[in-house]
Amino acid sequence: MTEQDNPFLPLAAPGIAGLTPYIPGKPVSELERELGIRDSIKLASNENPLGPGPKARAAIAELMGEIGRYPDGGGFELRRVIADYHGVAQSAVTIGNGSNDVLDLIARTFLSPQVETVYSEYAFAVYAISSQAVGATARIAKASDYGHDLDAMAALVTDRTRVVWIANPNNPTGTWLSAAALRSFIGAVPRTCLVVVDEAYTEYVSEPDFPDTTRWLDSFPNLIVTRTFAKAHGLAALRVGYGLSDPRVAELLNRVRQPFNVNTFAQAAAAAALGDREHVRASLELNRVGMQQYVDAFRRLGLDFIPSVGNFISVDLGRPAAALNQALLRRGVILRPLGNYGLPNHLRISIGLESENARCIAALEDVLAS
Ligand SMILES: *Cc1c(COP(=O)(O)O)cnc(C)c1O
Repeated sequence: MTEQDNPFLPLAAPGIAGLTPYIPGKPVSELERELGIRDSIKLASNENPLGPGPKARAAIAELMGEIGRYPDGGGFELRRVIADYHGVAQSAVTIGNGSNDVLDLIARTFLSPQVETVYSEYAFAVYAISSQAVGATARIAKASDYGHDLDAMAALVTDRTRVVWIANPNNPTGTWLSAAALRSFIGAVPRTCLVVVDEAYTEYVSEPDFPDTTRWLDSFPNLIVTRTFAKAHGLAALRVGYGLSDPRVAELLNRVRQPFNVNTFAQAAAAAALGDREHVRASLELNRVGMQQYVDAFRRLGLDFIPSVGNFISVDLGRPAAALNQALLRRGVILRPLGNYGLPNHLRISIGLESENARCIAALEDVLAS
């Protein structure tokens, strides 16, 4: 959009002019309205196909009578449960309206037009959006094998860098960093630079040398770990996530945080979900089997893919994915094109129910053949 299209553009804050909005997965209702079709499936937003577990559902159902009241602005009970779960102080926990909200709080608290921020090529899009919205200068490190190249990232950090963003595992690539590599990176970054480790998919990872960064908070006061209830816990619609950090960092984030950013249902469901290990276990098992369905299919079809430890997998179609994606939409299969991530030949597929995966694979085979 140019100044001619929008006369308010020159009035907006400096970072806004170059900003492109986040592109979410297409909702089923929107596709069906547009194409007049039914029975579509959405494998585009890395949601848990099982949804929430029984404990979270029960917690939500109990609270209908509370709708007329504001939520607990301090999120006392949820922060207590999170703090207990991780063995950290309650003052180390910052709750967010999704972990996106926490990421945005970090940008608004520590970034400004005077400072710089570092992230990787193919990294989660919100780092760019939140950083740019506040006018910080972004230094983007080239990826290596689609994953974060920590040496390249370290080389971009200066005394002007306030925030480095790392997704582990990363979305949309599903790549991950080992404990040793990540720990030595954080140890080498100046203490004037915060390192955000975004662990939205951490529950899915079973690699033995995958880090538990929450154990490092005492060693690195400039570390912020973010987690979400939107993925493995199946609470995407409620919008709830959190950050763990040095309490002095959390205190600053909480100055910026809107007082009622996490609603009553989200607080209660999230607290219940952390105690529902059985639901997480079942979700991970479903994901493991579903991931294998795709890996087998891609091998059979001769398609390259980026090996993923998350609940999604990005496949290289060997040609521009946009037209194939349109053909898939007409068949009622919603996936995520990655052109805006600089991966025009890839589609990202969220692991669904077994039947959804089978339908997606059949549709993919069909459109590739036609
Ligand atoms: C999904 C996702 C998030 C957060 O999602 P919320 O719904 O805002 O909690 C954060 N980081 C990455 C890398 C994600 O893929």
